[in-house]
Amino acid sequence: PIDPDAMFKQGFLLEVYNERPEKNVFTRFPPEPNGYLHIGHAKAIAVNFGFARYHGGKCYLRFDDTNPEAEEEIYFTAIEEMVRWLGFEPYKITYSSDHFDTLYQLAEKLITLEKAYVCHCNDEEIKRQRGGEKGTLPRYRCAHAEQSVEENLQKFRDMRDGKYKPKEAFLRMKQDITDGNPQMWDLAAYRILDKPHHRTGSKWRIYPTYDFTHCLCDSFEGITHSLCTTEFFLSRTSYEWLNKQLVEFQPMQREYGRLSISGTVLSKRKLKELVDKKIVRGWDDPRLYTLIAVRRRGVPPGAILEFVNELGVTTTNSIIQISRFEQTVRKYLERTVPRLMLVLDPVRVVIEDADEFDGTELTVPFSPKNPAMGEHKIKFTKTVYIDRSDFREVDSKDYFRLAPGKTVGLLQAPFPIKATSYAKDEATGKVTEIRAVFDRETKKPKTFIQWVPAGEGAGSHKCEVRVYNSLFKSENPAAAEGGWLNDINPESEIVYPNAVIESGFDEVKARAPWPEAAGEDKQHRGGNETVRFQAMRVGYFALDSDSTDNKIVLNRIVSLKEDKDK
Ligand code: ATP
Ligand code: MG
Ligand code: MG
Repeated sequence: PIDPDAMFKQGFLLEVYNERPEKNVFTRFPPEPNGYLHIGHAKAIAVNFGFARYHGGKCYLRFDDTNPEAEEEIYFTAIEEMVRWLGFEPYKITYSSDHFDTLYQLAEKLITLEKAYVCHCNDEEIKRQRGGEKGTLPRYRCAHAEQSVEENLQKFRDMRDGKYKPKEAFLRMKQDITDGNPQMWDLAAYRILDKPHHRTGSKWRIYPTYDFTHCLCDSFEGITHSLCTTEFFLSRTSYEWLNKQLVEFQPMQREYGRLSISGTVLSKRKLKELVDKKIVRGWDDPRLYTLIAVRRRGVPPGAILEFVNELGVTTTNSIIQISRFEQTVRKYLERTVPRLMLVLDPVRVVIEDADEFDGTELTVPFSPKNPAMGEHKIKFTKTVYIDRSDFREVDSKDYFRLAPGKTVGLLQAPFPIKATSYAKDEATGKVTEIRAVFDRETKKPKTFIQWVPAGEGAGSHKCEVRVYNSLFKSENPAAAEGGWLNDINPESEIVYPNAVIESGFDEVKARAPWPEAAGEDKQHRGGNETVRFQAMRVGYFALDSDSTDNKIVLNRIVSLKEDKDK
């Protein structure tokens, strides 16, 4: 396991702290409640909450809800849930909209300071003022910038009172258009939206912009280290400029690199298209990389944090292949989950000379590596299920599993077995039953396969298993011929409706989430997705939320080895 605090102990995040080594660190995670969080956001959560936690400080969850056009209640709940699922406790949950009154007063103050004016220019005119299409023409201010304080105040109040329609007027900061930084070119501070807000109702027709709101809210909350992604680097200047004009407490903004994931899509527009076109079942479909989907698939939150930590935090943006994420998840699961036997596509094997062992109990460790996970019983039976893929009708030299006349080991069983004959359904061409005998001579068979005991008393369960592969055929769907939607992998989900799992599953489920095995996961006592195990030779699995008391549905979280899934 890697040190969960590694990213705070060295490099960029330590430098940020050392620039301002406060005793009481305050940070914030400021999502806009306009969509579900995805795996990129997990980095932002880990950085902001983790930074505060590491330095003994506090982190706010602040909903940056200044754009009523895109926001919906469901996202507030889902976002908060994901923060807690990742193991973080917000110091307070706040809303930018809590400050609408104060922000409004500060906007009036800015006008009074002659640092803001109401402008009536349209997009075209504004672009020209800022140097035209290419930004090469001389920049200038419009006549509205010369209005008196009184006139600006009057017009701003008229905006507030609904005397203008959207776009007829907006409040602009009076910054410095000679500055080389576009963030100083008289940015918008307030615009008319005339939309009701889910928290303030129809009280406001005007809403503050990100550039006006974010820095001030940071100041109100006493944020010492305002950590955001590098696309805000130029905004640092306007952030500091505005706070200096208006407020006492000066937070420090610093920027870290975004985490982009390739091999999948994360943009809201594309995810929505996948959902609307029913290519996936919903926003939490396990093939997606929204956090709700990753959770449903069964990825432990600790593995996500480990992934972020492993990549480290610097000022450069990184594009990481989804297979690298899976590799971290695999390593994490390898040491933290118990092992069981699962057969995806069962075929019966009758071991003719196994009468003396029929019904005997075998004691099997949950993990060969970690005795702390304990052990469980599994019944050996004369009839067992093995996977169809572990049997061949025609043997060959380079094949080491079961075939007529060939011996294979059964994990944990008293002896290896040798196939003697098999029956076939002529209509389907499928093998229906294999007959075998114990091979008491062969001590060390080349291969051991998994099996599950058959019959009523064996305690095995039928289950539906969903094996997920990449949703896209190529590593870069955006560049695929015919567009990204043309790149959908038809085998992204393979369902095994008749799989069987051994009785040890009951204990794995009852004891979930196995804190004794996964120390890091102690705080995550969530729903079904905490029931995770390794199915020997098959992959890592979790219980899906479609499961009921009478039906077990399993998701494959990841394969056992890289590449096997493609
Ligand atoms: P998206 O458009 O993907 O939803 P966003 O920037 O609009 O991204 P916000 O809801 O504003 O998303 O994000 C909340 C916080 O998470 C911001 O501080 C943002 O910088 C950060 N964040 C968003 N995406 C990433 C990412 N891919 N990597 C790191 N941090 C991110
Ligand atoms: Mg945003
Ligand atoms: Mg967003």
